[in-house]
Amino acid sequence: MKNNGELNSVIKLSYRMNTVILMCVLIMMGYFKWFRVKFMFWLSVPYIVMYLSHYVLIRKLHLTAFVWSVYSLMTTYMISATVCMGVSSGFILYCMSLIPIAFYLEYISYRIDFKKVSPLILTSMLLAGSCVSALYSLLCGPVYEIERESSEIMFMVNAVAVLFFLVAYTIYITKSIITSEKSLNRLAITDPLTKCYNRNYMMNHLNSLVEENEAKDCWISLVDIDDFKQINDTYGHNFGDTVLKTIAAKLMSDSDVTVARWGGEEFVLCAKSSKVNSSYMEMVRNAVANHPFEYEGKKVRVTISSGVSDYGSFSNTDAWIKDADMKMYVSKGSGKNQTIY
Ligand code: GH3
Ligand code: MG
Ligand code: MG
Repeated sequence: MKNNGELNSVIKLSYRMNTVILMCVLIMMGYFKWFRVKFMFWLSVPYIVMYLSHYVLIRKLHLTAFVWSVYSLMTTYMISATVCMGVSSGFILYCMSLIPIAFYLEYISYRIDFKKVSPLILTSMLLAGSCVSALYSLLCGPVYEIERESSEIMFMVNAVAVLFFLVAYTIYITKSIITSEKSLNRLAITDPLTKCYNRNYMMNHLNSLVEENEAKDCWISLVDIDDFKQINDTYGHNFGDTVLKTIAAKLMSDSDVTVARWGGEEFVLCAKSSKVNSSYMEMVRNAVANHPFEYEGKKVRVTISSGVSDYGSFSNTDAWIKDADMKMYVSKGSGKNQTIY
C-alpha cells in the first residue's frame, strides 16, 4: 500500500458515497410510491439491502468489489426505472453522473495502489444499459402510464439531482487538484530536514533579484556550522540533525529573511537591507553560541561562521555568492564563531 493516510481518506469517501446513494434510493422509493410504480418500489428493497452490505465490503477493504457492485446496481436500477417510466422520466441522466467518477477511480486506484477498475468497461456498461432501456422505452412505451405533468416533474427532480452532483463533484476535484499541486510545489522548494528553502529555490530567488535590478538593496550571508563533523562523530548523526534543525530555526527567526539550506551544514540567507539590517547575522551567531545544546545532560558547544556580502558592484549571482563564501572562509581561518562583513 502506497499511503495509509490516502487509503483512509478513500475509505471515508467510499462510506460517504454509499450513504448518499442509499439516501437517494430511499427518496426514490418515496416517489415511486407516490406515482404508484409498484415494481420499482419493491425492487428498491433488495437494492437497499445491497447498499447496506457495501458497508461491510468497504470495512473489509474490498474496494474493487464495492465499485463493481455500485456500478452494476446503479445501471440495472436506472434500466428498470427507464423501462417502467419511460426515457422522459430522466433516470438515464444518472448514467452521466457516473461517467466522470469511472475515470476518477482509475486515478484513485493508482494513488492507493489498488487493483485498477477499467473506466472504459464501466462506461461501456453504463452506455449499453442506457441505450437498451431507452430503445425499449421508445419502441414499446413505458410499462406504467404516468401523466405528462408528473413525468416532467420527475425529469426536473432527476435533472437537478444530477446537476447538483456534477457541480459538487467538479468542486471536489478542482479543490483536490489545487491542494495537491500546492503541496507538491512546497515539497519541490523545501529542505525536508530543516524546513528552510532548498538550494535550487535560493538560486532562482537570487537570480531574479539580480535580473530585476533589486539586488543592489540586498545582502546575502553564507553560514557554515563549525566543526560539525566532530559533533556528528562524538554525539551521533541524530544529535547532528537536531543541531541543524535548531540552527535553521534561529536563522529563520525573521520572516523578512529568506533562508535556504545550501548543502550539508551550510545555509544561505538573503534579505533587503531596508527591511533587515545585516547585523542580524551577528545576532544569530550570538544566539547559536549561547544556545544550551545538551547531549545526555552534558553541555555541547555549537558555533557558526558566516560571511556577509552586499550586492554592490557584482555583475552576477555567482560572484556575489563567491564573495560571501570567501568571507566565511576568512572567519574559519581566524578562529571560527565570527561574522565577517
Ligand atoms: P568546519 O568547521 O571547517 O566547517 O568543519 P566541519 O567539520 O563543519 O566541516 P566538514 O565539511 O568536514 O563536515 C561537514 C559535516 O556535515 C560532514 C557531514 O557528515 C555532516 N553532514 C552533512 N549533512 C548532514 C545531515 O543532514 N545531517 C547530519 N547529522 N550531518 C550532516
Ligand atoms: Mg561546510
Ligand atoms: Mg562546517
